[in-house]
Amino acid sequence: MSAAESGVPNPPVRRLGDWSASHLRDLADDYGTSLYVLDLERVRENYERLETAFPESEIMFAAKANALGRVLETLLEAGAGIECASAGELVRALEAGAPGERVHYTAVNPPATDLDLAVDAAADNHALTITAGAEDTIDRLEERGYDGRLCLRVNPGIGAGHHKKVRTGADAKFGVPANRAVETAVDAAERGFDVVGVHAHVGSGVSSDDLDAHREFVSRMGDLAREVNEALTAAPDAQAGLEFVDVGGGFGVPYREDEAPLDLEAVAEATRDALGEVDARLTIEPGRYLVADAGVLLTRVNTVKDAPETTVVGVDAGMTTLARPAMYGSYHPIRNLEANAVDRPETPQTVTGPICESSDVFCTDRSLPETARGDLLTIGNAGAYGYEMASTYNSRPRPASVVLEADGLATLSRRRETLEDVVRLERAAGDGEVDSDEPNRGSPREVSR
Ligand SMILES: *Cc1c(COP(=O)(O)O)cnc(C)c1O
Repeated sequence: MSAAESGVPNPPVRRLGDWSASHLRDLADDYGTSLYVLDLERVRENYERLETAFPESEIMFAAKANALGRVLETLLEAGAGIECASAGELVRALEAGAPGERVHYTAVNPPATDLDLAVDAAADNHALTITAGAEDTIDRLEERGYDGRLCLRVNPGIGAGHHKKVRTGADAKFGVPANRAVETAVDAAERGFDVVGVHAHVGSGVSSDDLDAHREFVSRMGDLAREVNEALTAAPDAQAGLEFVDVGGGFGVPYREDEAPLDLEAVAEATRDALGEVDARLTIEPGRYLVADAGVLLTRVNTVKDAPETTVVGVDAGMTTLARPAMYGSYHPIRNLEANAVDRPETPQTVTGPICESSDVFCTDRSLPETARGDLLTIGNAGAYGYEMASTYNSRPRPASVVLEADGLATLSRRRETLEDVVRLERAAGDGEVDSDEPNRGSPREVSR
């Protein structure tokens, strides 16, 4: 039974303070730290709110935000499709049970091996859609004998991101320039592709405080979809018009405690208005919105050091565990989970990881309850772009992931990496052999391109 059906409120945001400290302490005791915890019920709630706001639309979850199998399964079960940014995500979506018609593979500068795999997958799943963002990606698909469902990614030339590195719409890397979109779509249709959609994603940062950029973008997509539809149906070899117009993801979440949650109804209304009448279904591709507040990262304090400038709190998670603060300067809430933390005086503290990099910092001079060695801290809004961006830099094994099922029971969903895992692919000293479960060559030029 859904939260809405059961009458249980489905709040627009779950704050870090809403998580049960004693439950999280138990999880840290049972599974160790650092540890990702993901509440699948909250993922479901986030999906339900989106579905309520966008009732007629298709919701594709952008798997790159969190490709954990249990997350994909949960969202598929709830009714979502999966948007895949790589062959790896495509494999994981299919393994999670996604039927072809609910899978989009978005080819961004795709390596040959990715295209090979996507074309193979489409041969078994005819309803799968491949999104191309460059004319020569269409050529490369054709060279592989693919002429199935094709969506054209366009570059509308405006970005709504909060940081340069996450702005993609204004970035020439993504999509066919808008002024070539119609001819590219018609050309693909004439070559036998089934042109089913147009797509753009302008980065992460749709906010209900400022919907102007979003409106402008969506209205361009509406215009474009109408033009493409007209051109496709007018062509000599007339094909059916578009099935969908996909306006991407980027639905913002409040990372700061005092930030208001997104007004989804307002965003949905602005989206529908700006799109106008189009003879095609609206598709959205949220990643972050569905998973961010469903996840936290648990980390234990290794060291507390008074420095003249600040108190340095060293924890066992670092930029290799959660990269966003180091990579984008992102704010994540931090809470001390010790039972008596609320009674402690607050002081300015800088929370850092164990990586030898000065950017390995979760917060600088933030006012937090005095920290002691051994304290358990939790970092909030870690469900999106958390584990997915983790690395083994500094030869640090990646953390474990635990999911909370609907009944609140925890299960280990991905074990902690070991040092053995980290060195597994290396040539072992003396034996001259590498573990060759996997082909060592990527995509030799003469084989495929
Ligand atoms: C990353 C991405 C998304 C999701 O972005 P969010 O900000 O997480 O909602 C959607 N579509 C595409 C093509 C993406 O690359």
